[in-house]
Amino acid sequence: EIVTRFAPSPTGFLHIGGARTALFNWLYARGRGGRMLLRIEDTDRARSTEEAIAAILDGLAWLGLDWDGDPVSQHARAERHREAVEQLLAAGKAYRCYASPEELAEMRETARKEGRPPRYDGRWRDRDPSEAPQGVNPAIRLKAPQEGETVIEDHVQGRVTWQNADLDDLILLRSDGNPTYMLAVVVDDHDMGVTHVVRGDDHLTNAARQTHIYQALGWNVPEWAHIPLIHGPDGAKLSKRHGALGVEAYRAMGYLPAAMRNYLVRLGWSHGDHEVMSTEQMLEWFDLDAIGRSAARFDFAKLENLNGIYMRQMPDDDLLVEFRRSLPYLEGGPAFEEKLDATNSARLAGAIPGLKERAKNLTELLANSQFLVDERPLSLDDKAARILDDAGRVTLAGLLPLLTGAAAWDAETLEGIVREFAEETGRKLGQVAQPLRAALTGRGTSPGIFDVLVVLGRDESLGRIGDQTG
Ligand code: GLU
Repeated sequence: EIVTRFAPSPTGFLHIGGARTALFNWLYARGRGGRMLLRIEDTDRARSTEEAIAAILDGLAWLGLDWDGDPVSQHARAERHREAVEQLLAAGKAYRCYASPEELAEMRETARKEGRPPRYDGRWRDRDPSEAPQGVNPAIRLKAPQEGETVIEDHVQGRVTWQNADLDDLILLRSDGNPTYMLAVVVDDHDMGVTHVVRGDDHLTNAARQTHIYQALGWNVPEWAHIPLIHGPDGAKLSKRHGALGVEAYRAMGYLPAAMRNYLVRLGWSHGDHEVMSTEQMLEWFDLDAIGRSAARFDFAKLENLNGIYMRQMPDDDLLVEFRRSLPYLEGGPAFEEKLDATNSARLAGAIPGLKERAKNLTELLANSQFLVDERPLSLDDKAARILDDAGRVTLAGLLPLLTGAAAWDAETLEGIVREFAEETGRKLGQVAQPLRAALTGRGTSPGIFDVLVVLGRDESLGRIGDQTG
């Protein structure tokens, strides 16, 4: 069975890179009948917060990514981590290191002068414990292999080799008794039965060190997939302006979770030339070996475009549900939501088919839906005010009695009335439709005008037109 995990540090929101990592883990496990686990890496007590944990769970839920079992708290497992260290000490595979902060600083300084990466020189590795200074709490270090090489076969990076001489004896337990991240990850992944570690390639070097810990403990090393980070459109590190935001920011901008999943999966992974794919297809096609080795570039225009495609092809009912669910998070959404009584809800449902053709995201959909719930008399935007000049009002005044006498209130009948009026009075259709639109919506643009008449209903439509002909 395949077991993956998503292991965020709750020091901030779920950012876009983390969301993609979660998605890849979810797809790989779920697409193969496996499990995805969630581990909260909350060992940094000063920086980990409950709000961040809540934001991560909320972000995953919004994206539709679920996990198996309860989230595991890494901090809560500290005792188990120390137990693993005891096991290594007993087996002579770890040792107590009494090097003082000054000695360590000196080693770093020497390395700096010699222009090589800092490295602990192993001075307590083989020293007799009886030489330990009094009253000093030691750190516990791994007796890492000093010769030969460490090799991993990474699903994305291929074969990666390190010279063991370049890797020092890493700390497992700090002198205050706290386990290090390096140790905690290995013990947790092992105990959780993780078979595949899929994470950012900023952790690639950690894989070498973690391999040493696995080997010392006599445990199977998991399979690795280190995915390239996401860069901005200019190829530089992703900045806020270029999309390095929390997923809740994308929700607030009005993107659909399904479009977001589709966009994220294509950041670094591809399947032929398929750009638009359902989650079912992603589950079927996703594979670690097809993840590219170069950094993916974040592209807002592409996300926007994809989102528009999803809006248009989504069944009306589903889009309505998604839209209503998103209202609490959209700017102006809560105020709109408050106005959705039975009448306005029905209007909104009726307007969705026309509205969705004109919106690339839910924020635009909200803006375009506003006229449905606006109360009479409507305030006019600049364009609508210009259209409703004297001539526009005269046109409406001529049309109003004809609409009032409409035998039925459906698009076909209403279109017939408006066309006939235009013909008989020598106006172009647009010269009638424009003032009508301005009066009915207060705006210069809207869904098709006959749909608007139907959605608003007879009384409301006639009232709004009457407001402008006074
Ligand atoms: N907690 C680490 C992070 O947020 C991930 C560690 C891992 O996946 O092994 O970057």
